[in-house]
Amino acid sequence: MELILLGPPGAGKGTQSKLLEARYGVAQISTGDMLRAEVKAGSPIGQEAKKIMDAGGLVSDDLIIRMIGERISRPECENGFILDGFPRTVPQAEALDKLLHETKVDLDAVIELKVDEVVLVERISGRFTCAKCGTGYHDTFKQPKISGVCDICGSHEFTRRADDKAETVHARLEAYNAQTAPILPYYRAKHRLFSVDGMAEMDEVERQIEAVLREVGVPEPTASA
Ligand code: AMP
Repeated sequence: MELILLGPPGAGKGTQSKLLEARYGVAQISTGDMLRAEVKAGSPIGQEAKKIMDAGGLVSDDLIIRMIGERISRPECENGFILDGFPRTVPQAEALDKLLHETKVDLDAVIELKVDEVVLVERISGRFTCAKCGTGYHDTFKQPKISGVCDICGSHEFTRRADDKAETVHARLEAYNAQTAPILPYYRAKHRLFSVDGMAEMDEVERQIEAVLREVGVPEPTASA
């Protein structure tokens, strides 16, 4: 399965792509996660990306395309992948087409999570994750069952993304509208674009995504996947 999840920051791409990764056994690739790992490691890529990420802008197409090219050629992507946060510009979408053409792989679907931007700011600015296992939580919508303890791994450490501050969120939404939204007509013209209601409950969004996957002929996951 080769799938792209599109949508503004906070639309639920990360949550849904992790659910799909677990269910279908394909690799979730988040360029945001890859960049945050580079920043944490203090690598040259991380140093180049940090300022732009902190300001809510987009990192250069060249850098991102090189990172993705290396990543999707790895053996763990043999069964396919879910792209979360890539492509984010038309040149990135064109570069992805070229990469897929070279490896003779076809995209199954591009799924847009449609959301109301006013709600996004509230969604994003309240989110935090377990520092150990990455499980996502929210101040208003999803607190851990025991305050300060991760439901999944029991860790007491949580982190918040530096770019989830309200000011930065507005810049990220602007970047989405100016640079990423133009990808939608690009994929619509290729008859690959589907939309689901990103404002629905998490289970319902998952159900709608799975309905699209059935429609485009992605085989049902086996029970062990
Ligand atoms: P995300 O976790 O997808 O919201 O990404 C966090 C930040 O990383 C974004 O605000 C951008 O600064 C940067 N980033 C992630 N993916 C891309 C991409 N495909 N192109 C350019 N910048 C990106």
